Amino acid sequence: MRWRILDSGLYPAHMSSASADEKRPRINIRRPDVMELVAAQVAVHFHSSIVEKLRDSGGKITVANTSLLLAEQFGFCYGVERAIDLAYASRRVFPEQRIFLIGEIIHNPEVNAHLREMGIVSLPWQDLTEDYDNLVAEDVVIVPAFGAPAAFMEKVAGKGCYVVDTTCGDVMKVWRRVRGYAKDGVTSVIHGKANHEETRATASRALGENGEGHYLIVLTLADVDYVCDFICRGGDKAAFLERFAGSHSAGFDPDIHLKKVGVANQTTMLKSETEEIQRRIRAAVLARDGDAGSFHFFDTICGATQERQDALFEMLKNPMDVLLVVGGYNSSNTAHLVEIAEPEVPTFFIRDASCIRSLEEIVHFDLHQKQEITSRDGKWLDPQQAVTVGITAGASCPNNLIEDTILKVFELRGIPREALG
Ligand code: SF4
Repeated sequence: MRWRILDSGLYPAHMSSASADEKRPRINIRRPDVMELVAAQVAVHFHSSIVEKLRDSGGKITVANTSLLLAEQFGFCYGVERAIDLAYASRRVFPEQRIFLIGEIIHNPEVNAHLREMGIVSLPWQDLTEDYDNLVAEDVVIVPAFGAPAAFMEKVAGKGCYVVDTTCGDVMKVWRRVRGYAKDGVTSVIHGKANHEETRATASRALGENGEGHYLIVLTLADVDYVCDFICRGGDKAAFLERFAGSHSAGFDPDIHLKKVGVANQTTMLKSETEEIQRRIRAAVLARDGDAGSFHFFDTICGATQERQDALFEMLKNPMDVLLVVGGYNSSNTAHLVEIAEPEVPTFFIRDASCIRSLEEIVHFDLHQKQEITSRDGKWLDPQQAVTVGITAGASCPNNLIEDTILKVFELRGIPREALG
């Protein structure tokens, strides 16, 4: 019998995860011997004693004329920690087998590089390429924390591969909701990025069990206003479909499929924006129907994203000269931290400490230009001036990268590591 792996258990490949939950003959891959080794390896790769110490002492340190503030919540979330643990455990449980990963385990280059070093090969996540045709039953396939579209899961199951599913429980909660919408004939309006793994995975579930459900992905408030205008007044169907090309289900007809709508969101969006989207769509349905009975919503921002956003709002109440946001450039939750901070304080979105080149030069991702740029105005690092530097990090950023950033800031200001205690 072929076994699939769900979190810490194995179940036969032909069983759906739902039935597996009921009847799964569990074989624990989180065996103490495996997890002990995994914990040690993960600690070596990602742990930081400096960050832990700073966190324990209230998140603030001042040495000479340099103060550093750390957000109360930052870095790895529970979903990411679990996904990394399971990926590392896979290598130990299957030392000899080919192990593949659908896309990236999380959006952090360093973490993904470690998996590559373990021989875990990333497969394309946008399309079911021939790489998937070439899988064989002995292969192991890891599903990332974002999940994967239903078609990918079916393909891998069809190949009989071992599947290590690290999909975060908070993402699955959204899937349950959009499946429910589909069952009730409600179109899912998904607030998210159409080219993000999680949103693609969620959109595939919005088609429902029979594939007849519909979805529309919206990202900006301008997208939402366009949709709301169509809900209230109707409009040019062709123009609508062109505007949302690649962001709606096959056969989507705005004249039909905007009658009953349910809002869901990518788990890592900006909460305030998602709430505004809900408010605007509800108002449009109310204006059209005279009641909001055909509008549904479900707040699917995950707890970890919310905590990091709230902690940043709190941190921004303190005077700061500059804020460094550390994380992968394709990390949605990290980008939203940058969006929150930018209006309040000079903010640099950096991948790691190597982006801080010198006192004058910092390489960072510009959300508006959507590219990495170099800024040469390092006055904030001028050792002659007293400064307060804030640091936060997205849910996919390991502590060792935060530590490197802290050390680099102090080092450039002439303060050695030893002075940090
Ligand atoms: S950011 Fe939220 S949804 Fe994503 S892995 Fe972490 S806890 Fe899960």
